[in-house]
Amino acid sequence: MKAQFRILGKLKRLDEKLYRLKTEIERIPEEVKKLEAKLSGRKDDYDLLKANFDNNEKLLRKAELDLKEKEDFIRKAEGKLMECKTNEEYQAAQKEIDGFKAEKDKLEEAVLTSMNGVEGHRSQLKTAEEKFKNEAAVVNREKKEYEEARLKLVRSFEEQGSQKEGVISQLSPDAATLYRKVFGITNGIAICLAENSSCLGCNMKIRPQLFNDVLGEKVIHRCPSCGRILITASAEIDENSPTDIQL
Ligand SMILES: [Zn+2]
Repeated sequence: MKAQFRILGKLKRLDEKLYRLKTEIERIPEEVKKLEAKLSGRKDDYDLLKANFDNNEKLLRKAELDLKEKEDFIRKAEGKLMECKTNEEYQAAQKEIDGFKAEKDKLEEAVLTSMNGVEGHRSQLKTAEEKFKNEAAVVNREKKEYEEARLKLVRSFEEQGSQKEGVISQLSPDAATLYRKVFGITNGIAICLAENSSCLGCNMKIRPQLFNDVLGEKVIHRCPSCGRILITASAEIDENSPTDIQL
C-alpha cells in the first residue's frame, strides 16, 4: 500500500503542474484581448483625428471655391462698369464692387486661416499615423509571442497529461477509480496533504484517528470536508520520480 501512496504523491505533483499549465494557457487569450482592446482604442483616437482632418480639408476646399466665385463675380462686375450710362449708375456699380471686394478680403483671410489649420493638422495626423502603425506592429509581435508561448504550454500540458495516464495505470484499479472520481469533482486538485491533523486542501481539522490512518498509509482516505484524497508529505517526496519535469 505504501507504494500506492508514492504513486498518489507523483500524481499530486503532476496535477499541480497541469493545473498551473492550464491556468497559464487560459490566461493568454485574456492577455491578447487586452492588447487588442488597447490597440482598438488607439485606432478610434486616430480615426477621430482623421475625420476631423478630412472635415477641415473639406471646409478649406469650400472656402477656396467661395473665394474663386467671388473673384469671378468681381471680374464680371468690373467688366460691366463701362456699360454704365450715367455717373449715378457708375458710382452705384463701383460701390457694389467695393462691397464685393470687402467680402473677398474676408474670404481670403478665412482661406489662409483654414489652410494653416489644415497644414498643422496634416503633420499631426502623420505623426499619429506613424505612432499607430508602430503600436500595431508591437501588438502584432506580442500577439505572435503569446501564441508561440501558448502552443509550447499546450504541448507541455499534453506531455504531462500522457505521463499522468502512465502514473495512474500504476495505481490499483480501485485506487485509480477513486482518483478519477475525486478528480472529476474537485476541479483538478484531487490529492492534498494532511499535516498537523488538518487537510491542507480545505484547512479543516481532521479526526486524530483518520490522521493516524493517513500517516500509517494503510488505507486511502478522503478528507471528510472537501472529499480530496489525503496523503502525507513523505509520500510526495520522490527524488527519482520520472515525472518530475520542470515547467
Ligand atoms: Zn479537505
